[in-house]
Amino acid sequence: MNIFMSLLVNDFPFGLPVPLAAIFVGALGAIIGSFLNVVIFRLPREESIVFPNSRCPQCSTAIHAYDNIPVLSYLILRGRCRTCSTAISARYPAVEALTGILFVAVFLHDVIGRNGPTAALPFDLAFVSALIALIFIDAEHMILPNAITYPGIVFALVARLLLPFLMGTNAFDDLPTLANVNYLSGLPVWAVSLAGAVLGALAGGGSLWLMGWLWEKLRKVEAMGLGDVKMMFMVGAYLGWRLTVLTIFLGVITASLTGILLMLKRGERNMQMLLPFGIFLGVGSIIALMVGARIISWYAGQF
Ligand SMILES: [Zn+2]
Repeated sequence: MNIFMSLLVNDFPFGLPVPLAAIFVGALGAIIGSFLNVVIFRLPREESIVFPNSRCPQCSTAIHAYDNIPVLSYLILRGRCRTCSTAISARYPAVEALTGILFVAVFLHDVIGRNGPTAALPFDLAFVSALIALIFIDAEHMILPNAITYPGIVFALVARLLLPFLMGTNAFDDLPTLANVNYLSGLPVWAVSLAGAVLGALAGGGSLWLMGWLWEKLRKVEAMGLGDVKMMFMVGAYLGWRLTVLTIFLGVITASLTGILLMLKRGERNMQMLLPFGIFLGVGSIIALMVGARIISWYAGQF
């Protein structure tokens, strides 16, 4: 893979060379990350996301624009409020840096992976942003808010409808295969794309719902909230069934390993200890979006 040549040769829609464009996208990601921090803090507390401006939770001093620069302000202020010196959570710069890094990774994946600018980029960036918010909210509150998952499902369907017009069967991972399926081969590509969304949503949300239902019947306890199911409706509709099955696989493996490690560390034997599964599904979704197709073809090549 001649990735360095691509870095030099590829052009960005704005006429920028790729390295410069990557820096621009990374900065955009850090700014979006700053917004995600507001969403992560306020949404579970049912506060408005738009008003009021950010304030220090300790002394209520409004935070100046110059103290609100992603990552940098935290470093300059050494992690403390300028007025009252209360420590600021390291989660703020972490989310900003993570969003910036993931934006660059998605940008390189989409632009270089597809040999040029792609209409999928803004959609992939929005998808990853929603997942970051869900991961951090689930980590803190053990909920996956409908205010993100419901619009997320609508967003996935809009992308499914729109992107095939712009990119044909390249738009989604499952389209090339689905377009060759007997019942679907006569349909226009946007209809195949929507059928793929429904199939993916069933593979994601449907299978999780079924697992939860079985677990409840067997153990007589509630296994998981419907938040995970709704989140996987969104993920499934967007990624398609192949990458969604991989996402669930990655989520179950990493959650089980983490659960075992935690049990060993704490000496607990309680299998019902609740882990926020949304974290693992969210991380799995991002991995599946970026390298899922490669993992699947590598796996298929083993046989
Ligand atoms: Zn303060």
